[in-house]
Amino acid sequence: MENIRNFCIIAHIDHGKSTLADRMLQQTNTITDREMQNQVLDDMDLEREKGITIKSHAIQMEYDFEGTPYQFNLIDTPGHVDFSYEVSRAIASCEGALLVVDATQGIQAQTISNLYLAVNHDLDIIPIINKIDMDAAMVDDVKDQIVDLLGCKRDEIICVSARTGFGVDLVLESIITRIKPPSGDSNAPLQALVFDSVFNSFRGIIAYFRVFNGTLKSGDKVKFFNTGKTYYAEEIGYMKMKLMPKQEIKAGEVGYIISGMKNAVDVKVGDTLTNFENPCKTSIAGFEDVKPMVFAGIYPVDNDAYEDLRASMEKLQLNDASLTFEPESSLALGFGFRCGFLGLLHMEIVQERLFREFNMDVITTVPNVSFKVYTTKKEIIDVHNPSGLPAATLIDYIDEPIIQAQVITKSEYLGQVMKLCIDKRGILKSQIFLTSDRVELTFTMPLSDIVIDFYDKLKSISRGYASFDYFLNGYQRADLVKLDILLNGEMVDALSSLIHRDYAYNFGRKMCEKLQELIPRQQFDIAIQAAIGAKIIARETVKAVRKDVTAKCYGGDISRKRKLLEKQKKGKRRMRQVGNVEVPQEAFLAILKLD
Ligand code: GDP
Ligand code: MG
Repeated sequence: MENIRNFCIIAHIDHGKSTLADRMLQQTNTITDREMQNQVLDDMDLEREKGITIKSHAIQMEYDFEGTPYQFNLIDTPGHVDFSYEVSRAIASCEGALLVVDATQGIQAQTISNLYLAVNHDLDIIPIINKIDMDAAMVDDVKDQIVDLLGCKRDEIICVSARTGFGVDLVLESIITRIKPPSGDSNAPLQALVFDSVFNSFRGIIAYFRVFNGTLKSGDKVKFFNTGKTYYAEEIGYMKMKLMPKQEIKAGEVGYIISGMKNAVDVKVGDTLTNFENPCKTSIAGFEDVKPMVFAGIYPVDNDAYEDLRASMEKLQLNDASLTFEPESSLALGFGFRCGFLGLLHMEIVQERLFREFNMDVITTVPNVSFKVYTTKKEIIDVHNPSGLPAATLIDYIDEPIIQAQVITKSEYLGQVMKLCIDKRGILKSQIFLTSDRVELTFTMPLSDIVIDFYDKLKSISRGYASFDYFLNGYQRADLVKLDILLNGEMVDALSSLIHRDYAYNFGRKMCEKLQELIPRQQFDIAIQAAIGAKIIARETVKAVRKDVTAKCYGGDISRKRKLLEKQKKGKRRMRQVGNVEVPQEAFLAILKLD
């Protein structure tokens, strides 16, 4: 065990975790230069395209140091605010963390929040400044920030360029000299933490684990501590660039298990794996339960695809323990699922993955948070959906989730960031200057006000120089009304929202205007109305047209005509018939696009 190091890389998004991982894989010859493509660990297409790490990935490397071979287990973690759950699972499986900070950006909100997680788990931290090859690198300033934050010495900070590979050898050495080896007893009963799982259509479920105590042998009968399910360890091994079968995995090591598990519910990430005949006494702590923060309906574009959608969601859930869903039905959209997400980016990714990996075309509805409704019958109901709200006469009061939000920004944007947070009903709790031009603001604010468009706005007013993190911080009384949208007099339940009474009129008006823009003209007038109860508060009309889009081409240019027709056809995808009106996907998310 002396020769094993388990570590993760934590950083704010885009600070260079995946690129640093690439260089380490190369310098340890885990991957040949020929096999190398950028950010190899991001093997999902979607990750490559968005350039972000969605899932954590684990990989083993071998590294010789002063004649002694070491086994490194690297767990790559995502840095986006929506995925902090994945970060916490990775951290619980490691003894050390590389804290990567971009030399041109300095410390950002997720640098701090991930660092707190790591410090709470007693990890040894190696601070690294990345991207020192860039002209805009402010190495000295960033060193000051890191020293302030960690209380470390300046010369403990390693400067690297993950792009060129400069300094990476020093990182590899420091992993050995500065991160403690794992401890644990290979002869004790098996106690292993399941930190991830993937579904493979050929092999079923592959679960990744870290052994804390004991030894897992191929063929052993194993038991999941929390679910109580038992299996035989058909194949166990190490994760290299490919799966590498082994006869046994010992305390301190990281490995995978394949054991005929076929169902999403069979593996609970965060569960403890133990031996059936000789089980451990307690499960491993250090895992949080996943708490979805944002809820939205997901419906198949094609009504008949409901069962296919269910199967796809179950498979997706294997890879994504933070996705929750339950069946729901909508008058407008038919049968679908109410899903819980960690945040808006997560929601977008789920929709994209359903489309790409499962060929499922879906409509997502207006996201909302979960409210606690106290009824006059003294019941408490968790409402994840505006249409799930009890009748007004039965409601005593409603509580909404409140978050504590932390924003770090350059001082020049302080005024605008402050205004944005206050517009979103934020209450300033503290304002701390980290350096002369960087300030950390702490607000409490209702979660419902940030799920809509907070993040995008924050990015744009600060030109990307503000970072943001939050956690749930209790519930608070809220004066909410249900705002309905009617199309040609018919209520579209999927467009309803719960909103603060003070904002309702303005919001209703904007929704109608936006929907008028988004709903294409049809062969009859479409009335769009916003209503609170029986009272109509706003109205717009989409005028009828019978438009031949090719008419404008004067019959001349055939290829242009074809392009136009194709464009029109594409535009038809993700449309739903609601009553006699065709409503495009964008309309169901109109709420996200209001100014
Ligand atoms: P992650 O989100 O932390 O995983 O960040 P990535 O590894 O995906 O890197 C984000 C971006 O920064 C990519 O475009 C990288 O090519 C770039 N990048 C990473 N490290 C360096 C570096 O040392 N120098 C320069 N110039 N760019 C880098
Ligand atoms: Mg990455």
